[in-house]
Amino acid sequence: MFYEKDANPNLIKDKKVAIFGYGSQGHAHALNLKDSGVKNIVVALREGSSSKKKAESEGLKVMSLSDAAAWADIVMVLTPDELQASIYKNHIEQRMREGTSLAFAHGLNIHFNLINSRKDLDVFMVAPKGPGHLVRSEYQRGGGVPCLMAVHKDSSGKARDLAMSYACAVGGGRSGIIETTFKDECETDLFGEQTVLCGGLVELIKNGFETLTEAGYPPEMAYFETLHEVKLIVDLIYEGGIANMNYSISNTAEYGEYISGRKIVDSKTKERMKEVLKDIQSGKFTKQWMDECKGGQKNFLKMREELAKHPIEKVGKKLRDLMPWIGKNKLVDKSKN
Ligand code: NAD
Ligand code: MG
Ligand code: MG
Repeated sequence: MFYEKDANPNLIKDKKVAIFGYGSQGHAHALNLKDSGVKNIVVALREGSSSKKKAESEGLKVMSLSDAAAWADIVMVLTPDELQASIYKNHIEQRMREGTSLAFAHGLNIHFNLINSRKDLDVFMVAPKGPGHLVRSEYQRGGGVPCLMAVHKDSSGKARDLAMSYACAVGGGRSGIIETTFKDECETDLFGEQTVLCGGLVELIKNGFETLTEAGYPPEMAYFETLHEVKLIVDLIYEGGIANMNYSISNTAEYGEYISGRKIVDSKTKERMKEVLKDIQSGKFTKQWMDECKGGQKNFLKMREELAKHPIEKVGKKLRDLMPWIGKNKLVDKSKN
């Protein structure tokens, strides 16, 4: 683990940094860097981007993608992963000045060779281990989200120092920077989001909700038991690990955890997790995702639409409207992040 004391926080301050994209990560990187004293920051957006207003309302300068690439010492690519290769080809490759740095917050495009970066460029990664709104809010509270840092190509001999300095400016130096590789970051990130954090958790919640409602219990009760309370439990685990959570719940709940948990997630589940990991490592998942994007994301958008129609989303909306405090200080505020 590296911290602020292990880096030179000043290195980044005099660099011209272009943040490509102003979404979840983009707004957090741009604003944290600015508050860390980076003097020249530009947000690079495509013509007619709806993010332009958001960035300008925070006092950030906006440029076109091509102009920003030619202007910058560091290009941080924070557009959606599936668009990065074409953005690199059309706006970055021919325009970045010799010896400048190309940076990412996720290793996918470099690791799976969707982008073959120009020989003279430095290529590094600073990947905060949290969604953008948290990268921003933790920084504003005086903390930071831990970051992974990796150097793929060190043409200048200074890529690592610069990456460390960038990671500090985004807040990572306050909570810890872990040095890794594009491969390890990419594969563990995809595995985590697919099996546990997003894929696994969402299916667990949906199946729990369906089991209760199909057995005739009111959807409101099912919502509280299988979705709402997830946060209460995860907060306890986050704060002090699993035993900390078990200390707080009843002995009955803890005994049920030991007896029934492993009936739900068992060794077969783990076998399937291993298959998922294999498909990630071999590039099969990335190929499937990129093919889906080439086909206009039809299946992807259909699955998104189907989920929106699920009864748990309907009853959830109704119940959250009756708990207005949940919506106060919302993490997701579409007008800002
Ligand atoms: P996002 O979808 O929230 O935002 C992408 C932004 O890119 C948009 O807001 C827009 O400003 C811009 N954009 C969209 N289409 C564009 C186009 N055609 N041309 C130019 N700009 C365009 O993306 P994100 O979730 O912040 O992800 C950005 C990168 O950060 C990805 O590499 C992702 O893997 C990585 N990352 C994301 C998270 C996260 O929590 N969201 C965490 C760690 C790393
Ligand atoms: Mg990810
Ligand atoms: Mg209970």
